Amino acid sequence: MEKDSFIDTNPSLETYWRAIILLGKNTASYKFAWAKTLLETKLNNSLVKVEDIALNYALSICDHLKKNNKQHTGISNTFLEDCRKYNKRQINDEQLHESSIKNGFNYVIEAFHNVAGDQVPLFYESMKKEKAIKVTDNFYKLLENNDKNNFSLEVNSRWRLWETAISLDINPKLIEISFDVNDELLFTINKRNKRIDVTSSREALNGYQKGKCFYCFNDIKIERNFENSCDVDHFFPDILKKFKLYNVDQVWNLVLSCKNCNRGTAGKFEKIPILKYLYLLNKRNNWYIESHHPLRETIKNQTGSTALERKNFLQKFYNNAVSIIPTKWEPNTVNGEVF
Ligand SMILES: [Zn+2]
Repeated sequence: MEKDSFIDTNPSLETYWRAIILLGKNTASYKFAWAKTLLETKLNNSLVKVEDIALNYALSICDHLKKNNKQHTGISNTFLEDCRKYNKRQINDEQLHESSIKNGFNYVIEAFHNVAGDQVPLFYESMKKEKAIKVTDNFYKLLENNDKNNFSLEVNSRWRLWETAISLDINPKLIEISFDVNDELLFTINKRNKRIDVTSSREALNGYQKGKCFYCFNDIKIERNFENSCDVDHFFPDILKKFKLYNVDQVWNLVLSCKNCNRGTAGKFEKIPILKYLYLLNKRNNWYIESHHPLRETIKNQTGSTALERKNFLQKFYNNAVSIIPTKWEPNTVNGEVF
C-alpha cells in the first residue's frame, strides 16, 4: 500500500442495526416492537411467516401500552385500539393475533431499513405476497456478535426514551443519550440535525421551575407572545457543540430563563453561569429523578445513575466548558429566595 493513500472504512453491521433503532421516522413505536420481535424469534428457517410472529409482536406493544398509553403520534388506529382492548381483556389472544396480522404491520416491514432517507444493508427481504420475510445472512452475522444480548436491551431503552418524549410532547432528540460506540454515526446525526428545536421542552422544564426564571427568579410565562414569555436556555451554551461537546442539546442542560437573563443588556448569551448555578442545576436534575418524573430515566442515562456520578459529570462538564469559554456570568439582580 502506498504510504500516502487513504483507507476506506465501511460501517459494521452493528452500526447499521443501531442506526435503524436510533434514527428514522418515529411516528409510532412499531419499529421497536418489530426489532424486538426479530431479535427474540427462534430462527429454524430463514423464511419467517408474519402469522408466526404477529402475536409476540402485538404483545410487546400491549406491554408498553400499559406503561405508556401513547404509542403513536398521529390519531390512533384500529391496531392500537385492539391492543388496548386486549389489555382490558375485551378481546382474547386469537382476536389480537388476527388484528395484528391484518393491521399491525402496515409499513413497518418495508420501512425498517430506511435510515435518514437511505437504505441500509438488508437484515431480511420482504416477501409481501407470501406474507413473510426472508432473513438474510446479515441478520445471522449480527446475531453472532458478542453484543447480541445488548441489542434487545438497547431496543427497549430506546423505546422507553421515545415514549417519554412523545408523552411529554417534546422533541425525542432532547432526551436521547449520546452514542459513544459509533462516533461516525453521531457525527452523521449532528450533521443532519444542526438545529434542534429545544422549545418543545418548556412544559416539562416548568415542572420544576414553576413559572420562575432559573437565574433571577422573576416570573416568566410558558405561553408564547407575552412580554415575559420564557426562553429555553442552554445552561452550558449551544456554541460548545463546535468544540465537540455535543450533549449540550440534552434535557439535563436546558433551563427556562427570562429574556433579560438570556439575551438582555447584561444577558448571559454564551457565557458560563457562576458556580452557584451549577449547584442549582444539579439540584434541579436530581429533583427530576427523586420525584419520579417521566424524565427520571433520561436524566440518569444522560448524566449518571447515582448522585455522585451526576455531580462528577457536571463538574467535568463545567471544567471543560470553562477551559473553552472562560467568561462567567450572573444576573445583575436576583429576585427573592432560591427555589
Ligand atoms: Zn431571569
